[in-house]
Amino acid sequence: MKKVYYAIAALIVFISACKKEASVNEAQSQNTPGKVITYHLKNGGQVTAQINNRGEYVVGGDVILSKDQIAYLEYNKVSSDKTSTPRSTFTTEFQKLWPGGVVYYTISNTINSSNIGLAINEWESNTSIRFIQRTNQTNYVDFSYPPTQGSGSSQLGMIGGRQEIKLVNNASFRTVVHEIGHAVGLMHEQTRSDRDQYINVNYGNINNDWKSQYDIYNLGAGYQTGTFDFNSIMLYRSYAVEASVNGNPSPQMTKKDGSTWSDSYYLSQGDIDGVNYLYMPINIDMFYTDEYVNEQNEYVNRSTRQAKIKFYDINFNQMGLPKPIKIKIVSTRKEYNNHNYVYEVQESIQTLSVNTQEYFLGTEIFQEQYDQNMNEVDGSYSITYYAIRIQ
Ligand SMILES: [Zn+2]
Repeated sequence: MKKVYYAIAALIVFISACKKEASVNEAQSQNTPGKVITYHLKNGGQVTAQINNRGEYVVGGDVILSKDQIAYLEYNKVSSDKTSTPRSTFTTEFQKLWPGGVVYYTISNTINSSNIGLAINEWESNTSIRFIQRTNQTNYVDFSYPPTQGSGSSQLGMIGGRQEIKLVNNASFRTVVHEIGHAVGLMHEQTRSDRDQYINVNYGNINNDWKSQYDIYNLGAGYQTGTFDFNSIMLYRSYAVEASVNGNPSPQMTKKDGSTWSDSYYLSQGDIDGVNYLYMPINIDMFYTDEYVNEQNEYVNRSTRQAKIKFYDINFNQMGLPKPIKIKIVSTRKEYNNHNYVYEVQESIQTLSVNTQEYFLGTEIFQEQYDQNMNEVDGSYSITYYAIRIQ
């Protein structure tokens, strides 16, 4: 019997920063180990977490949520009262990606160096993700020591600061590839919101400790690409003895025709496409509305227009944002004064949410004034905008 490598019970996953995590939300300290919480999000998303005996929130058996992610779920759940929720406790969107697709890493668990190296190579040869050994970077993955049970655990996306991929000492190549998948932002394939079109999940064949690992995980639109991928490294096998009810050999999941599948050992084309989609370059282009207002007389040219941006994929097809991004908006006021142009530059940072189609930067104004000799006069000015993607 093949060994199931997923972290089995949430109860046994350790995390060094648990004290800090547990102080995020008073409600957490009242949560009992084994408790399952399903968050129904305002955007239609749904995430199920199970609390382990260290007060950590675990999704899918091997993914430990950060305090920001828990706060995000609390804030965005359907019943949340925004006025009383400590919004300041989270600083990021739920799933934060590695800037530029670069993951800095260290290896504490040197006994697994060989498979860690091979797994990194699997990701680098197939996707745009790059791994660089950390020198002094703030955000990085440490391949560290194992949970007491199960083969590995990870966190979802870039958490900020040190985060761990914990591995057993004889962790397989597949395990490492899978746990890296979580760290770059992937969840288990069987938790897709559209999975019921492709598979049957037979909850009667799943023991209570494992049930939540088969629940749909969905943050809302935007993070789910392609169709259900039976070859994904992020998909559980049809039958896992650890998930069974007293060893009953009936599969936890089947295809619609009743057939089963086994583990994949490499990244599938779907995994590759999904990650490249998350980390693809996003091109920004400016455009202006047709609401072009032009007032003109002999000595004044005044016009206004709306400056906006749109987004384009790697093939320069226009798209809604596949993920949240941060942009820096720069506005420049240029005024003619004392025979000189005086520039005033203002910058602001904006986070644009997933699916954003276009974004309004500001109204550009051109007010050019001339004297009787058609020389520009003091007070003549313009205000213009542009945007740069910073994350
Ligand atoms: Zn996993």
